[in-house]
Amino acid sequence: MKFLPLLAGASAMIAGAHATDYSIVHAGRLLAEPGGAVLTERSIIIEDGKITGVLAGYAETASLNAKPEDTVALYDLKDYFVMPGLIDSHVHLTAENNPKGRLQTVEMSDADRAIAGAGFARITLEAGFTTVRDVGARGGDAIFAMRDGIARGDIVGPRIFASGSTISVTGGHGDGTQGYRDDIAGVLHSTGVCDGVGSCRHAVREQVRRGADHIKLTATAGVLSNTSAGLEQQFFEDELKAIMDTAHSMGRKVTAHAHGVNGINAALRAGVDSIEHGTYLDKQSIRLFKPNDAYLVPTLLAGVTVADWAADPASHLLPPQRAKAAEVGPKMLDMARLAHANGVKIAFGTDSGVSRHGDNAREFALLVDAGMTPMEAIAAATIAAADHLGQSDLIGTITVGKSGDLVAVTGDPLDDITELEDIDFVMKEGVAYKGP
Ligand SMILES: [Zn+2]
Repeated sequence: MKFLPLLAGASAMIAGAHATDYSIVHAGRLLAEPGGAVLTERSIIIEDGKITGVLAGYAETASLNAKPEDTVALYDLKDYFVMPGLIDSHVHLTAENNPKGRLQTVEMSDADRAIAGAGFARITLEAGFTTVRDVGARGGDAIFAMRDGIARGDIVGPRIFASGSTISVTGGHGDGTQGYRDDIAGVLHSTGVCDGVGSCRHAVREQVRRGADHIKLTATAGVLSNTSAGLEQQFFEDELKAIMDTAHSMGRKVTAHAHGVNGINAALRAGVDSIEHGTYLDKQSIRLFKPNDAYLVPTLLAGVTVADWAADPASHLLPPQRAKAAEVGPKMLDMARLAHANGVKIAFGTDSGVSRHGDNAREFALLVDAGMTPMEAIAAATIAAADHLGQSDLIGTITVGKSGDLVAVTGDPLDDITELEDIDFVMKEGVAYKGP
């Protein structure tokens, strides 16, 4: 066997990281299954990217059944707290909100979006997020090209599940043409915009044809669309039902952006699998989550981010955005507290792209502010998020048969959740991308 001391003397980042046939990780403290016990002095064995053993004690490389030509990497994390790779259920990887955003909409090509997105993807992985769900991407096929390019190993980033274009009513939150002149708006037209049952079935099928892993719709108005359309329901109930039934008939889960309570409740009644944001949810909403076994993705970081912008007269928000941001931002923490206290299942999601890519882990402290224990917040970003994405066979815990996705920090995130804002070690599919 060929022994590769991959991290010895390495700088913080391993450029061009590559797979080895075997990896052994010596974990001083191991939270293999969030919600369970923290184990000490364990070895994680990874073969061809998959976890094949979680053993007591520090296993030697000689204990592997490696052939002479096999490569083996040993990672000494005896002084670290090791846990599953983090999962962000709500990102927008092809863009990041900035004062030039509206100009960039007409300046940047789809290729520009993909290249910019590759940078955001790398930053996200380095922050410890080994899997993300992209829920609405500017830039045509850029997000699908990024997803597939990362899977092939052409570029570095988290495993991506992508929705493609957001399903939205004309003039609604996911129709990004507001405020542009008509001929430009025609160029910017999205395949996700639909009105009426037949049109909405077609829009969903079109995203599936383009390669969508799931369907995202905007059930209500939203903060950062350039329109004073309030924050309430935008699709009618027959349209919502058409979207859910069409997506489900093609094996796709559906998630709904929703702020106003009528939109939240209508989406849940129509069979949606998760609610993003959920700002004005009430007791009735909480009851409606149960029959669908639906998740809430609270995106508290987005709430904090837009509230900060609203409070800053020099920020780049347009008047309709500013008014909505001031209204929504401060409400989100209490919303998450109410949902969590009443047993709504929560999956970790940030809306990064509104906030800066790579700052995703700031969401943990906000979830703890909303009443979750640090262990519950970690579970929301691992075991629960994996269930939410329908990927529990692949990710979410460090157990035999799953992908070799793990992160490590020096401190104890169960004592101080902000430890996760500074991840020291990142491995995805058995390949280390960041080391101590
Ligand atoms: Zn979003």
